[in-house]
Amino acid sequence: MTITVRIVPCLAAFAVMLVGASASGKGGPQVDSARIAAADAEPGNWMSSGRSYDEQRFSPLDKINAENVSSLGLAWTYKLDVDRAAEATPVVVDGVMYTTGAFSFVYALDARSGKLLWKYDPKVPRAKAANACCDVGNRGVAVRKGKVYVGAFDGRLIALDARNGKKLWETDTVPDHSRSYSITGAPLIVKDKVLIGNGGAEYGVRGYISAFDSETGKLAWRFYTVPGDPKLPAESPAMEMARKTWSGDKYFAEGGGGTVWNAIAYDPQLNLVYFGTGNGVDWNRAARGENKDAADLFLASIVAVNADTGAYAWHYQEVPGDMWDYDADESIVLADLNIGGKPRKVLLQAPKNGFFYVLDRATGELLSAEKFAPATWASKVDLKTGKPQIDDAASDWTSGPKLVMPGPLGAHNWQPMSYSPKTGLVYIPAQEAAALLAPDNDAAFDTHTGAWNLGTQPLALPEDPKQLQPVIDSYKGRLLAWDPVAQKQVWAQEYKTPWNGGTLGTAGNLVFQGTADGRFVAYAADSGKKLWEAPANSGVMAGPMSYNVGGEQYVAVLAGWGGAFPLAYGSLSLNAKVRPESRVLVYKLGGKASLPPPKNAPAAPPEPPPLTADANTVNHGRDLYNGNCGVCHGLSAVSGGVVPDLRYLSPEKHAIFPGIVFGARASRGMPSFAGRLKPDEIEAIHQYLIKRAHDFQDELKTAQMARAP
Ligand code: CA
Repeated sequence: MTITVRIVPCLAAFAVMLVGASASGKGGPQVDSARIAAADAEPGNWMSSGRSYDEQRFSPLDKINAENVSSLGLAWTYKLDVDRAAEATPVVVDGVMYTTGAFSFVYALDARSGKLLWKYDPKVPRAKAANACCDVGNRGVAVRKGKVYVGAFDGRLIALDARNGKKLWETDTVPDHSRSYSITGAPLIVKDKVLIGNGGAEYGVRGYISAFDSETGKLAWRFYTVPGDPKLPAESPAMEMARKTWSGDKYFAEGGGGTVWNAIAYDPQLNLVYFGTGNGVDWNRAARGENKDAADLFLASIVAVNADTGAYAWHYQEVPGDMWDYDADESIVLADLNIGGKPRKVLLQAPKNGFFYVLDRATGELLSAEKFAPATWASKVDLKTGKPQIDDAASDWTSGPKLVMPGPLGAHNWQPMSYSPKTGLVYIPAQEAAALLAPDNDAAFDTHTGAWNLGTQPLALPEDPKQLQPVIDSYKGRLLAWDPVAQKQVWAQEYKTPWNGGTLGTAGNLVFQGTADGRFVAYAADSGKKLWEAPANSGVMAGPMSYNVGGEQYVAVLAGWGGAFPLAYGSLSLNAKVRPESRVLVYKLGGKASLPPPKNAPAAPPEPPPLTADANTVNHGRDLYNGNCGVCHGLSAVSGGVVPDLRYLSPEKHAIFPGIVFGARASRGMPSFAGRLKPDEIEAIHQYLIKRAHDFQDELKTAQMARAP
């Protein structure tokens, strides 16, 4: 493979739109770390993404409760600029809401009326979208002392003046732009620092978390999660320890992985910061040169470090030598639980791999681990050794294809879970989504092409609707109320589709969750009984939150569809039957605002040009398509609606197809594949798309005939 031209992130441009009054009085929100640590003292505010440092996402407000939730209605809505992946949990301080949208837009809104106070567009180069696995979402801001912080998709950490959205400083969190780093997570304020991690482990990067001085943006500390250059001395005792667990040194050229792309939590008493780490580069352990027994620290682990220095404190590795993309980046929740008759300070996680972990957060000791969802890769976790009993026969795909459960979408992904200290239950947006993994040990890896580096054959789905249907039916979602002490399910609500929203627990005995099929729902927290629902126009993935202004309690959620599931698995996501449409939805008792009508469904697909290629060329085009295009436009050329469905190409677009693939629409988010694909390969992909457009016409005709009397 040749080296492709890279997009240099645009550091210069920024834009601010000032609309009306300044946000939150004279100096902006005077939140600091002590105020976040004492979040329960001001339950009307929601000052950090997870509300409090324990990331429980529990609101002590109870004016809205199980008795009156049936009268909940829209207070206001606010339309976001980009209809992709709405993933943020808003922050509300003293009557002002700060939130983010796709491509890292930042918004300040009057929390009572929804009126825009200001917005900020960091001008992320749109073609950067292709250098990350899972869409261009952003999970929200952090605020401290009159500043609002956002991690921009292209790797910049930006501090804004909370009063007007003007940029105060920006710092580049990425040391090496020849590799595909990105940011989708929310920053976390810890004392005078702002913490942020990065994504990119599907593309060949070295994972780390960074702490920056919140006033100046200067790097305070950085903790790498996988070892560095084997020719140089290890950077720290932790990296010395990690290096011994990798066999060979291929990892360094490929990056290693282990990215910290989502969960960060903080315990002010222990002064420890906790974060989860992602998969290895490649997914395929054999392709990254590892033997079966290599642990590959700190992949798929929870790591605790000193909040002031970033020095290693302890780690717990959930999946030694991970090869299933079992990221441990999902929500980390801290709680104080009575376990075995003893009060314990614990850390809770329900990661992708399907086990629910309870750790002692002072020491990292594993207290319990049980399956909360079907998981075929391991039979159980040994409490003495802390290690999983991996079922190689069921799950080792390095020498041949295996249907693995959970697949890379996980039994739970980034959609945040919550914990209610009132019910003692954890509310997990769980799912079932198996995947067929097959090795490609001869893959020519190049971490600088912006291409996936997984050591797998391209993911694929059946094209024949009859073969596809059982796969669609096997993909499910589930809201799970889980007792973390007894390690068992208390109640569940089943969904036809995975990829449902994050959860919020409240003191009003309520759990709120948005759904993939476009609803926002309230359940009784103790029994799981459905008490209320409202349409959201779009699939909902984000975590809801609640706040109080002027004596009125509000519940807020971002509606908006996107992410890995609808992008790659478009043909499985069509059960959701909703179009991406991103909007802040805010509810109160007796609210009377109306939701604008949903976007129309797409028109009938245009008649495709005749297919001119032979079957071999079309099959070659299929493999090239699934390997290069399918992760965004949908495997088998069926889009989940977030980016264009290529079976709908117009005659004009067919005519300029090679130009589009070579970058004609880069400014609108379609990257250039010049250097990655040759003209004859592009022609094969084009012919495959024409074939799939004809398939689609046939499917529509069959469906029409079935409906005819
Ligand atoms: Ca991953």
